[in-house]
Amino acid sequence: MSEDSATQEVQCPRCGTQNPHSVTECLYCGASLSPTAQGQKDGRDPRQKPRLSYYTLWSLICGLMAPFFLIPVVFAIGFGVMALREIRRSEGRLWGAGLAVTGMCLPVAWIAATMIANMIGSS
Ligand SMILES: [Zn+2]
Repeated sequence: MSEDSATQEVQCPRCGTQNPHSVTECLYCGASLSPTAQGQKDGRDPRQKPRLSYYTLWSLICGLMAPFFLIPVVFAIGFGVMALREIRRSEGRLWGAGLAVTGMCLPVAWIAATMIANMIGSS
């Protein structure tokens, strides 16, 4: 009865996120996932050109600035959250969800790298 088809995943043609087979829209960017697109090689629609979310750009910029200034860490995560929210609501007109996550992870990666460097240096 409760046989979940977890092995069957649909990759979003727009952002590349793996979505469960049961959903018709990408859980990440909201792009429509046609279940019949399995045989198609390229799922991209050339007519629609989604633009990059500006929040994503700011998230990346702040993420890159994080090691030099402390405040951008907060902005990178804040902009990243806003980007994901905006992209999800845009119904495929915006992209950059993956980049927004990267922007959010960059400061964390910097902090982790700094901590590891300090640990190695102090030992
Ligand atoms: Zn998607």
